[in-house]
Amino acid sequence: MSTLSSRPRGSRVESDVTKADLDWENLDFGYHKTDFNIRFTWRNGAWDEGELTASEILPLHMAATCLHYGQECFEGLKAFHTKRGDVVVFRIDENARRLGVSCRKIHMEPVPEDMFIDAVERVIKANLKYVPPYGTGASLYVRPIVLGTGPQVGVRPADEYLFMVFVTPVGPYFKSGFKPVHLVVEEEVDRAAPLGVGDVKVGGNYAAGLRASINAKKKGFTEVLYLDAKEKRYLDESGPANFFGITKDGQYVTPASPSILPSITNKSLITLAEELGLRPQRRPVDVEEIFDFQEAGCCGTAAVITPVGSITYRDRKVVYSKDGRPGRYCVELYQRLRAIQLGDMPDKYGWVHRVVQA
Ligand SMILES: *Cc1c(COP(=O)(O)O)cnc(C)c1O
Repeated sequence: MSTLSSRPRGSRVESDVTKADLDWENLDFGYHKTDFNIRFTWRNGAWDEGELTASEILPLHMAATCLHYGQECFEGLKAFHTKRGDVVVFRIDENARRLGVSCRKIHMEPVPEDMFIDAVERVIKANLKYVPPYGTGASLYVRPIVLGTGPQVGVRPADEYLFMVFVTPVGPYFKSGFKPVHLVVEEEVDRAAPLGVGDVKVGGNYAAGLRASINAKKKGFTEVLYLDAKEKRYLDESGPANFFGITKDGQYVTPASPSILPSITNKSLITLAEELGLRPQRRPVDVEEIFDFQEAGCCGTAAVITPVGSITYRDRKVVYSKDGRPGRYCVELYQRLRAIQLGDMPDKYGWVHRVVQA
């Protein structure tokens, strides 16, 4: 292991570095160049020690399995400056575990969890000037990916893999702020099959859903809400985010389904919903239940919560927000999760992992 990684966790590193000259308050959710990314290669049965590089370009064999056969998976998490000035990431152990599950499911060499955490810490420390200052609403988005890079022409797993992590400073996911969005129940496209790979974070699922998403936008909706592919009766999730509804009698309901990605944000909201006196339920959710919710939301690392203003299902539409404002449970859940992430509320569940001490 390198000298940088062998430092104890949360050790003192220059955290008062001069920040990059960026308009933090007005950053979009797009790619902005930083100084370094980190790359590890798996070859001859072992991962190497990883190397920081300034290059944004990957040298890639044209017969790499990631290009032909979709041997690719990824993660997404965020780093923040807390009020005290620490740099922290949220529930990184969960991302480390989930990347391993994704790798195994599509026969790629899994990235050991401690190597994952070490890689994320090294790349954040190398790009400290891009971690947005506390109070700006922005964050440093961390994108780990694993690629099958060994050449194959026949359909079989690669014999070489690349694990890399890049970071990019991002503003809030929705430029318009915490405003309710409009969903349409998708009936013509399936994102994932029950026994497929919808429960892991592989790129192919996103390619499969692009046409549904683009079509919905053309019709004036923000995103689609997928139904289960088998019965077309139960809710799955909304494109890149999990879905939840708040029933009129105070349940936090979120779909149990073999074809949705187990969101770490959703798992955290379930815990926080209980604190608010809501009763969390993860179970199959019949599409007809949308007409009985008092509120609904989408959740994921990028946006935390996106309040849902309306859902259109065939020729019926249910409206949760008449005045363009989010419901109280969406607001309270959002504020609680953000407060824990930013160190404004005690981290009583041990979700916050310190990368750099102020
Ligand atoms: C990443 C992702 C989510 C959100 O997961 P988080 O762990 O909360 O970021 C939801 N759905 C899909 C399909 C995803 O890829």
